[in-house]
Parts: sequence; structure tokens; C-alpha cells
Amino acid sequence: MTADALDLAGIGIGPFNLSLAAQLDSIPTVSARFFERRREFAWHPGMMLPGVEMQTSILKDLVTATNPTSPWSFLSYLVAHRRFYQFLNAEYEAVPRREFADYLGWVARGLTSLTFDAAVEEVRAADGMFSLRIGADTVLARNLSIGVGKIPALPAWAEALPKTMAFHNSEAADRLRDLRVRRIAVIGGGQSGAEIVDALLDSQDVGTIEWISRRPNFEPLDATPFTNELFNPAYVGDFHRLPESLRLAHTHRQLLASDGISAATLKKLYRRLYEEKLVAPPPKNREISLRPHRNVIAAAKNGSSIELTMQNGFDNAVEQVVVDAVILATGYRFVLPDFMESLKPLIAVNSLDEPVLAEDFSLVWDGPADNRIFVLNAGRHSHGIAEPQLSLAAWRSAVIANALLGRDQFDLGQPLPIVRWASDATGLPQSSYIGEAAE
Ligand SMILES: Cc1cc2nc3c(=O)[nH]c(=O)nc-3n(C[C@H](O)[C@H](O)[C@H](O)COP(=O)(O)OP(=O)(O)OC[C@H]3O[C@@H](n4cnc5c(N)ncnc54)[C@H](O)[C@@H]3O)c2cc1C
Repeated sequence: MTADALDLAGIGIGPFNLSLAAQLDSIPTVSARFFERRREFAWHPGMMLPGVEMQTSILKDLVTATNPTSPWSFLSYLVAHRRFYQFLNAEYEAVPRREFADYLGWVARGLTSLTFDAAVEEVRAADGMFSLRIGADTVLARNLSIGVGKIPALPAWAEALPKTMAFHNSEAADRLRDLRVRRIAVIGGGQSGAEIVDALLDSQDVGTIEWISRRPNFEPLDATPFTNELFNPAYVGDFHRLPESLRLAHTHRQLLASDGISAATLKKLYRRLYEEKLVAPPPKNREISLRPHRNVIAAAKNGSSIELTMQNGFDNAVEQVVVDAVILATGYRFVLPDFMESLKPLIAVNSLDEPVLAEDFSLVWDGPADNRIFVLNAGRHSHGIAEPQLSLAAWRSAVIANALLGRDQFDLGQPLPIVRWASDATGLPQSSYIGEAAE
């Protein structure tokens, strides 16, 4: 390593690289810096709507799963803010997202390895080093950790609609504040769609809410014990060794384990609709239509309104609704960021054109083996549905730290999983994560 080259440069400071920074903070011999384009830490600010809640336990924080004595745990945050006892007394079934975001911000303010207001514009590789262009500065590093999150996934029919009339839910907090229209369609039956509908119900100005989902019903997140085993490092090891066709099929089937609506949100919404439709209608009458099993196939702008055409999978009929604005709660997708343009031809991709990730979350690429490019939040199809979630963030950071150091800095040994996923006689090597406990 040259004197001024980092061991690792992290690009983007969302929860995932923040977790890596927090884990590396316990290893002073590693020189790492993380760069973020925002001026300060923010966690999905566009979806910080009133009353939104976490879908994961606070024990699945940035560090605890593999480093429970770290000063950067959620429990340390509670103690530092002198509300440990009150937090327990509040008996949250789901913690408010605002509080978890505040925890993340507290960690971000405490770590010294982070630089904000530093958008990475270009990465190049030469002479066993990556060079990062950040404004007028150049940063050198032997390894990279890309944690830039995902971009909004927009349906093709929405692309031609004016941005003043149709926007992704990631902008909701700002846009809803100024939206002065009577008829709104929310597209998407996941957690974000449900949260938007809940927020719209607070507004007395909205006269019509059309909630449209492709799924056959407004379906719950499956957070039951055996499904939660999918969020266990031992499962990830078995999953990663499968051929791609099986991995894609499994993730497709497991959709509701990660992308369903929290039971608490469903109950809250149902009770609000019950109240509004049956018990005490608001003074200004409004129409709320829940339309599951509808696939929007076209959208046409007609003056100041939008006509949506849908195929109803329940009875195969075609329907239309007319609204003034459309909110697209249609998910996110990973794309390799533009700053990686010069390296793209060297990076292996799968059948979906996603980068291929090795078990330690490094890209498979045609470059020097000791210049690794770790990528976070890009492994749904390589490591399973837990990879884009907070559940395994602390563990993944420990896997990356061990790979970086070439030794078992963090103990990743797992007890035998409750469920046997892989066959006894696959001939595949045992998971390196199961370690001592393997039979
Ligand atoms: C609304 C919402 C709620 C969620 N709630 C939960 C939950 O309760 N439980 C759970 O397990 N998962 C949840 N998730 C899923 C997942 O945990 C989050 O999406 C998480 O934020 C992913 O972290 P990340 O670090 O990959 O990306 P992000 O949080 O998107 O952060 C990426 C960062 O990279 C920065 N960046 C991008 N490009 C550059 C660049 N060129 N240079 C410098 N910086 C750059 C961005 O500004 C951003 O700050 C939620 C997701 C959403 C959208």
C-alpha cells in the first residue's frame, strides 16, 4: 500500500456502508474512508411520512449481530440519549422509522471516517489502485465498497407522463406537502404503497384515492419464524451456492417475506377505512377504491388528468380510472452507478444484467484479485431476499471486513440452522459460515 492510499474507500453512506464503517471503526489498523454526496446523513427522507414504522428488530442494527460490544449499537444510542427505560416501557411492536433514522444519524455524526458533501463522479483502476474523482480531489484506494442504494423502478407506461403529475414514492414527503389535486392513484401494493395511502387519508383535500396493485390482494409481510430463517446467514451460504435459475425462482416465490405489507399497517389501514366508510364519514365525502389484481397497461394524459387502463386479473375485464396525479410505489432496482463506467466492461453480469457477486460480496471482475470491489444492496439474486434488508447488514459488514483483512477478525460461526435447506448429498462444500457447528 502506498502511503496515502486507503485500504478501502466506501462510496455512498446509507445504512449499509454506515454499518461497514461502524464495524471497521473497531479495527484501527484499517485505513478506510466513506464518501457521501448529501451534506449530512439522511435515511430515505422522501418516505419519512408521519407514523411510519420499522419492519425489523432494533437488534438488527448496524453492528450487534457480529460485534455486540460495539459502541455503535442501537442500545448504546438509547443509553447515550438517556431513554433506555422509557424505550422499554413504550413496548413498541415496531419502532418508529424516525427513531431508527435518528440512531443512524447519531452513528454518522460519531464516526470519524465519513466525508459528506462528497459525490464520487468517476472511478478508474490503474497500477493496482482505484482512483476516485470527487470534485477537484482524487482519492486512492486498494479496495472499494459501493453502497449507493437503488434507483426508483418505474413502469414503462409511466415514463411519458409529466413529472408534475406522476412521481415515485421516494419523493413523497416533499411532493405530498404541495400536491393540490382531488383525485390520486397510488400504484403498488407493498409497504410503501400502503404508507402513501395512509398519508393521503390524513389529507382532507383529497377527494378520490385509487389504490391499485398487481398482487391478487393487499398481502401481508410474512414475518413468521420459519420464513425469518431466510434472514439467517446460514441460509445465505446455502442460497449463494445454488445455480442462478434456482436462485431466481426462489426469490420470486419469497416475495412476501421481504416485500409484503406489515400486519400493523394493514390493520391500521383497514380500521381507518372501516371508520371512514361505515362509521363516521368525513364532512367532505370522498371515494376510496382499493383495486388489487390490476395490472396497469396504459396511461394517457388528457388535459390536466390521467386516464389509467388496467387489466383486472380477478375477472379478466379491462377497467379505466381518471385521476389528476399518480404516485408510483413501484419499487427500486439496482444499477451499477455511472461512476463505474470505465470498469463496466470488466465486470461479470448475470442473465438479468446484474453484477455477479462472490460469497464475500465482492464483484467478479477481470482485474487484480487483491483490488476488490464490494457491492452492497445488489445481491437479492445472489445472496437472497435478506441482502437488501437491514437484517444481515452487521453480518455482511463483518464478512467484508474479514475478506479485506484476510483473517477471521469477526467470528462468523453460526449454530446449525433450524431448517435443512440443502440436500445432504449435494456434493457442494459446506457453508464456510457454519464453521465448527457443522456435522
Ligand atoms: C422507505 C424504506 C423503508 C425501509 N425500511 C426497512 C426496514 O424497516 N427494515 C429493513 O430491513 N429494510 C428496510 N428498507 C430496505 C433497506 O434497508 C434500505 O433501503 C436501506 O436504506 C438500504 O441502504 P443502502 O445503504 O444500500 O442505500 P441508501 O439508504 O439508498 O443510501 C445510499 C446513499 O448513497 C449515496 N450516493 C449515491 N450515489 C453517490 C455518489 N456517486 N457519491 C456519493 N454518495 C452517493 C446516496 O445519496 C445515499 O445517501 C427500507 C427501504 C425503504 C425504501
